[in-house]
Amino acid sequence: MNSPERLNPHSTPTQSSSSSHEQECAVFQSQMAARIAAGEDLQTDAHLKDCARCQALLAELEAIAQAARLLLPIEEEPDDNLWQKIEQAITSERP
Ligand SMILES: [Zn+2]
Repeated sequence: MNSPERLNPHSTPTQSSSSSHEQECAVFQSQMAARIAAGEDLQTDAHLKDCARCQALLAELEAIAQAARLLLPIEEEPDDNLWQKIEQAITSERP
């Protein structure tokens, strides 16, 4: 007779510490973008120091944020004004 008594569903080990860490990650990750947007320095966050997963996520997010900043359209055109000023300066200095 083969009774499956060894597969006892109530013998799961306690994982309270790791599950609370998961929760910390979820909270940290949900606030990460908003805190970066607010200009906060997340490198000093206590959770980040002992969580490699969130460190990697933060690095990724910062790379994306940097790329987004590069893609932002530059509305001012300083080159034209600069050249006009230089031209004016040159022509006005002519005798
Ligand atoms: Zn984490």
